[in-house]
Amino acid sequence: PSALVWFRRDLRSFDHAALYHALRFADRVHCAFVFDTAILDALPSRRDRRVEFIHASLAELDAALDAMARAAGGTGGGLIVRHGRAEDEIPRLAAALGVDKVFANRDYEPDAIVRDSRVAQALAEAGIGYEDFKDQVIFERDEVLTQAGKPYSVFTPYKNAWLKKVDDFQVRAYPVERHAAHLAPKPAGETLPGLADIGFEPTRLAELNMPVGMSGGRRLFDDFAARIERYKRARDFPAVKGVSYLSTHLRFGTVSIRQLAAHARARGGEGAETWLSELIWRDFYHQILWHHPQVVDRAFRPEYDAVKWDEAPELFAAWCEARTGYPIVDAAMRQLNQTGWMHNRLRMIVASFLTKDLGVDWRLGERYFAAQLNDYDLAANNGGWQWAASTGCDAQPWFRIFNPVTQSEKFDPEGRFIRRYLPELARVPDKFIHAPWTMGGIDQSACRTKIGVDYPGPIVDHASARERTLQRFGVVKNDA
Ligand code: FAD
Repeated sequence: PSALVWFRRDLRSFDHAALYHALRFADRVHCAFVFDTAILDALPSRRDRRVEFIHASLAELDAALDAMARAAGGTGGGLIVRHGRAEDEIPRLAAALGVDKVFANRDYEPDAIVRDSRVAQALAEAGIGYEDFKDQVIFERDEVLTQAGKPYSVFTPYKNAWLKKVDDFQVRAYPVERHAAHLAPKPAGETLPGLADIGFEPTRLAELNMPVGMSGGRRLFDDFAARIERYKRARDFPAVKGVSYLSTHLRFGTVSIRQLAAHARARGGEGAETWLSELIWRDFYHQILWHHPQVVDRAFRPEYDAVKWDEAPELFAAWCEARTGYPIVDAAMRQLNQTGWMHNRLRMIVASFLTKDLGVDWRLGERYFAAQLNDYDLAANNGGWQWAASTGCDAQPWFRIFNPVTQSEKFDPEGRFIRRYLPELARVPDKFIHAPWTMGGIDQSACRTKIGVDYPGPIVDHASARERTLQRFGVVKNDA
């Protein structure tokens, strides 16, 4: 038999569930990726770091499949790349290649679920099978449930159940290489399209210190593995190299979640345990999205849909453009706008600021992040935003109102991160860096930063914004 493996957010040739199962099933296995116009056409810009990341990663995947096939004694392999609607392209390609079955790894986003069921339907009509597999997460869908058989909606008990259930088998790598001789060479004349061929322009990805493809993921992982012990202590400080920077690779599957989780489990110690916990958050939000697809545009807890947000386009624009007058918020937004990545502590601070200080609907912030983030992932982004906006799983509106100044003092004490992204504040003394509007006139000329001229004054007063937020949440009746 022959098969087609449809790559999507799993751009690697090792430890790959669908590829493994296809190689076991068939003696001729083709591999394909579709630049799906249903997704690409909706992107706000033709210069998109993620498209460039994918494009570069595909070239590496193509070469790796070929090398792996030859190393296993096969005649070669590679990646067939198409540009069009995946719903049309996959059934068409499967028919043209005459395969018996299409294999893919499961995607839990509502749009992807619809797309995949249409593809399966079209294939079935042509007499071709379709099979999908768990690959992106350690536990999916309803694999981790409460004793009553319900999905968890609070993280800590979910995590405890997850840790109880995980074993060596769950994190074992699929030995793809062993069967790689079954890979089929690319049909004659198949070449990878250039970025321009799919209608995109290059970004300055290479300057961002974001290595692409499986080799890039490996490089970042090796770098992180050498400092994972410090993760727990360093992870909250954006000026420090404390986190893994692997999120974009996890998003596009150029690293394998099983290998990362296996490493963290085997390593042990407070750093690795804390990091494993972050990987569990990732599974947690994926199962939330799968069980509760309505969270895409509604509050996780329906009673929180009663909260009325302000119409404040100027405040929203100031937030997007890093002009709020709160240095930690503005520096974070510049990090996002310039690099496509933002530190987790800062994501929480800016999301809290938008919703709790500016009173702007979390959905606007979520969409802005979706457009900007290299690691944008619907499940994690929606979960993070609803957490910060207090509409989500563990709402806590009365307690979760971040003070942007004290957060800044705590997590960027000397303003090192702030100064990196706000050079206009470079000479502001440490004691004023978190709230520069409190400087006296003399300080302002000494540090060459005049508030209101070189850097904006604060667009809201935190104490009064906090009061308004408490009132806003007053409409929620049954707060648990
Ligand atoms: P590390 O600290 O090294 O963590 C390792 C991995 O664990 C991450 O790569 C990620 O896959 C996972 N992870 C860590 N924290 C979380 C979390 N809270 N939820 C789910 N997974 C997590 N993460 C995304 O991958 N995509 C998003 O679109 C996204 N949007 C977010 C929006 C908001 C408002 C907030 C508060 C958080 C968001 N996160 C998102 C989670 C987190 O901020 C990033 O995963 C993290 O900053 C990525 O950097 P890292 O790879 O160095 O993380």
